[in-house]
Amino acid sequence: MTGQIIRLQLIDRRAALTGGLLALGGGAFALGRQPPADGGVCRLYPQQTEGPFYLDPKMQRSDITENRPGSPLELIVGVQGPDCRPLAGARVDVWHCDSQGTYSGFDAPEQSDARGQTFLRGWLPTAANGEAAFKTIYPGWYPGRTPHIHLKVILQDSTVLTSQLYFPEELSDAVYRRREYAKAGTRYRNANDGIFRQGGAQTIAAIAPQGEGHLARLRVAVDPAAGAAASPPGRRGPPR
Ligand code: FE
Repeated sequence: MTGQIIRLQLIDRRAALTGGLLALGGGAFALGRQPPADGGVCRLYPQQTEGPFYLDPKMQRSDITENRPGSPLELIVGVQGPDCRPLAGARVDVWHCDSQGTYSGFDAPEQSDARGQTFLRGWLPTAANGEAAFKTIYPGWYPGRTPHIHLKVILQDSTVLTSQLYFPEELSDAVYRRREYAKAGTRYRNANDGIFRQGGAQTIAAIAPQGEGHLARLRVAVDPAAGAAASPPGRRGPPR
């Protein structure tokens, strides 16, 4: 146990050394942490609530935008095992709200009626390098939550990860100056969001400018044995 803690500290140290800083819009964002090259132990990505807006429209696709307006975002999710090796052929599902905070497929308080629609949802299998690359827009926000994208990782029909990813606060400040994101109300910030705080900095994507928008990278290490515990048959996460 002590050995594993020391190993994780070493990984953190290495991440601090290899992670660069990128100045953007007046803020500085840490670039992605690198996996250890020596076959060390990867820190598992934390499980977080599925929330009430997951549905599976069975749409395998890289571009989930469906012409929703917003700041372009490429999201690359890199799936790894606990040994930090890339996992090929894993299914990655992503879903998030549009620039005004609306989830497709639902009619709910604080959002537009989007029943029957499928925007900003989709899934991809990971390539040989463990990565799935989605073309989308920067998510908007809705009351009570900081900006986030939901994701699942499914291995051989078993859900091994249900979680969320987040963004640097300064980046959201900059993106939300765009007119597509204009809305009344006060946005929650990462520090105010109890679900974000369960996972902390590990769940913030590494960001780089790309074209008119941004590239977001997130590495998620999963435990292939987590499936039974994470989603026993017929059980769904608590509504949030
Ligand atoms: Fe959500």
